[in-house]
Amino acid sequence: MEKLIITIAPTGNVPTREMTPHVPITAEEIAATALECCRAGASVCHIHARDDEGKPTHLRSYFQAIMKAMDATGTPIIRQISTGARAGKTPEDRAQALDLKPDSASLSTGSSNFPNSANVNDPPLIRFLAKTMLEHNIKPELEIFDTAMIQNALDLKKEGLLKDPLQFNLVMGVKGSQPATAKNMFHLVESLPPDCVWSVSIVGQAHVSLSTIAIALGGHVRVGLEDNIYYTKGVLATNLALIKRVADIAKAFGREIATPEDARRILGLK
Ligand code: ZN
Repeated sequence: MEKLIITIAPTGNVPTREMTPHVPITAEEIAATALECCRAGASVCHIHARDDEGKPTHLRSYFQAIMKAMDATGTPIIRQISTGARAGKTPEDRAQALDLKPDSASLSTGSSNFPNSANVNDPPLIRFLAKTMLEHNIKPELEIFDTAMIQNALDLKKEGLLKDPLQFNLVMGVKGSQPATAKNMFHLVESLPPDCVWSVSIVGQAHVSLSTIAIALGGHVRVGLEDNIYYTKGVLATNLALIKRVADIAKAFGREIATPEDARRILGLK
């Protein structure tokens, strides 16, 4: 079985300091988290930016500050920028940070709902983001909130907008989208094309059990405060503790943990 890629999603758009003191907000905090999580087994960092008030932002300058802070730590972790719907409204907003040429960027290949808003990704926007990523040699991570998004990704590949190996992240448990159940996960995994790379990103209580199943099936795992601020019921998590738990589960199975160098090979990154 291929080595396990563990992605840390330390910040997201939703957690605030009021919700948890452990969420990294500033560029320096995010870089320090990426560094310690990389040392504990994370090989990819999924990055969201916050403005000076801690609110989600699409502004390039904030992403640039995070990149610089990560450079300063010397961490080899793979950098993945979010192009998600919550922080920016126009296609240009959503693509703003892509000319910083991160290794990877998220790309939702369809629309769905978040708990209190719509996750709008219409076909022109998806093509625009995919084309921009292609031009900058950025690997899209395809964020799958329902099964139609898998077919949409395959259509984009036919159009020449995506290159192999396709990288899917199956997002489950976001209220308004597909529930986090083993049945849903098996259906999604069976719907994926051969030779793709896939991971799960599970929101809610099922995150430990479903991530464990994904590890056993040969998938990869994303964890972090973006997806879960609790470690167990009523106990707040830290990003580092979430990474360590996934690494320990994998080690118990005898599945090796990918280094950033391994992950670059598996994902076909430059
Ligand atoms: Zn995200």
